[in-house]
Amino acid sequence: MTRRDAYDTGMVDVAASGWTAPQGLAPSWPQLANDVQADVAVVGAGLAGASLGLHLAEAGVRTCLLEARQPGWGASGRNAGHVLPILRSVKPLAAFPGGGASFLEVFREHHTLPYDLARQYAIDCDAVRSGYINGMRTARARDAFVRTSQYLEDLRLQHLVPLSAAEMQGLTGSNDYPFGVLFPDGGRINPYLFTNGMVAAAARLGTRVHGDSEVLTIQPEGRRWRVRTAGGSVVADRVVFCTNAYPTAVEPAFQRGFHPLTAYGIATKPLPEAARKQILPGGGTFSQAPLDINPLVHDRHGRLILSSIPRVGHAMDMAWHFASQLRWIHRTWPETRGMRIEPDRYWTGRVALTASQFPGFYELQKGVYGLMYFNAWGNVMAPLMGKIVAAALARDDLAALPIPVSRPEPVSHQGKYQWIIGRLLLPAARTAQRLGFI
Ligand SMILES: Cc1cc2nc3c(=O)[nH]c(=O)nc-3n(C[C@H](O)[C@H](O)[C@H](O)COP(=O)(O)OP(=O)(O)OC[C@H]3O[C@@H](n4cnc5c(N)ncnc54)[C@H](O)[C@@H]3O)c2cc1C
Repeated sequence: MTRRDAYDTGMVDVAASGWTAPQGLAPSWPQLANDVQADVAVVGAGLAGASLGLHLAEAGVRTCLLEARQPGWGASGRNAGHVLPILRSVKPLAAFPGGGASFLEVFREHHTLPYDLARQYAIDCDAVRSGYINGMRTARARDAFVRTSQYLEDLRLQHLVPLSAAEMQGLTGSNDYPFGVLFPDGGRINPYLFTNGMVAAAARLGTRVHGDSEVLTIQPEGRRWRVRTAGGSVVADRVVFCTNAYPTAVEPAFQRGFHPLTAYGIATKPLPEAARKQILPGGGTFSQAPLDINPLVHDRHGRLILSSIPRVGHAMDMAWHFASQLRWIHRTWPETRGMRIEPDRYWTGRVALTASQFPGFYELQKGVYGLMYFNAWGNVMAPLMGKIVAAALARDDLAALPIPVSRPEPVSHQGKYQWIIGRLLLPAARTAQRLGFI
C-alpha cells in the first residue's frame, strides 16, 4: 500500500499517531506460536477487545486476546482523545431489552469508566475529567443545542451546565463562543496508552495476549470454535470479534455492516507557555455547535490535539490541514497570532459509522459474536460495552444482556458517509467558516 493510500484509508502506521509520542510504542506482545485452549477468544485489541479481555479476566474466564498488529494499532491508538460521556441518541433504546431501562442504569453508573479503570489499574494515560465544553457563537445555536440535548438531563445521564459568556471566556480563553454548555463528566484521555494499559492489566489477571497474530480462519470444532493464525490456533467456546472499522476477510459479514469514514488527527509540538494559558485554560475538551469542525483538546505535554475529516484526495497533506486549523485558532484566540504553534504528528484513522449511531453486539452463529461499530465516540462506549458483554459471557447468560443481540446486516452504499461528509458537508462548512458565517 502506498503512503498516500494508507492516509486515505486510515491505515497509516500507528507510530505516526501523536498518542505514541513522546513515550514511543508500547512493548510488543509475542506472536501466537502454538495451539491453545480458552473459554473465550477475543479478536482485535482496541478499546473494545482490551476491555472485554480485562473484564473477562476479572471474572476468572480463560481468555485469549489476538491482535493482528499490536494493541492500539486501530482507531483506539489514533483517535482525538475526547471522553464523551453521553449517548448520541436514545432512539435505538426502544429496541433494547426492557426499553433500554437496564442499559440506561449501567450507563448512568459507568459512563466515567475510562477514568475509573485508569485509576483502578494505575494506567498512566492522562485520563482527566476536565469537562466537555460545547461552544456556540449565537444564542439561537445554544438554544437549539439545549433543546436537542435535553434528554441527557431528563434521563439523568449527564448534567447540562449552561455557561455564561464570562464562564465561556474563563474556560476557553476566547470571546468567540459566548454561549456554551458543559458536560462535567467529559474530559480527555490518551487512548493508545489507555488501550495498552487495559491489555497489560488483563494479562496480569491471566488473559493470554498475542500481537502480530491475525486471525485468518475460523472453523467449528465439535461445539467449539478454532481460530487459526499464521503461527498457531485457539480453540474456544466462544469467539468475539472486536474489529470495528478494520475488519479482515475472515468474517465478511463484519466487513459490510458499517460505513467507513477516514478522519485525521494532528498533535502540535508543546505550546509556548503564553499559548497554553490562552487556549482552553480550563483544560476541557472543546467542540462547537452546530458544526463541530474543530474539536480540540490539549494534553499533559501541553500539546494541542486537533482533528477533523481530511480533504478528499489530499488526506496525507498535513500542511493544508494544519493551515486550516491554524486559521481557526488565530480567529478564536487572536492573541496567539505570532506565537509558535507548530504541527508535530499527523495521522489518519477509520471510523465505523452506522445509521443508528449506536454500536452493536452481533451473533453470527451460536458462539461467534461481534462487538463493534462505535461511531466517533468509542472512548467511553467501547470499554463500557466490553464490560457489559464480559459480564454476560462470564455468567453464560446472553439473555440477561441489557443490549440486544442482533444479526449483522450489510449496509447499502457503504461509502455514502465518506462521500457526503468528505465531499459535501465538510467543504461547505469550511467555506462557511472562512467567510465568517460559523
Ligand atoms: C481520527 C479519529 C478520531 C476519533 N475521535 C474520538 C474521540 O475523540 N472520542 C471517542 O470517544 N471516539 C473517537 N473515535 C472513535 C474511537 O476511536 C473508536 O470508536 C474506537 O477506538 C473503536 O475501538 P475498537 O476497539 O472497536 O476498534 P479498533 O481500535 O479499531 O481495534 C480493532 C482492532 O482489530 C484488529 N483486527 C482486525 N482484524 C483482525 C483479525 N483478523 N485478527 C486480529 N486482529 C484484527 C485491528 O488490527 C485493530 O487493532 C475516533 C476515531 C478516529 C479514527
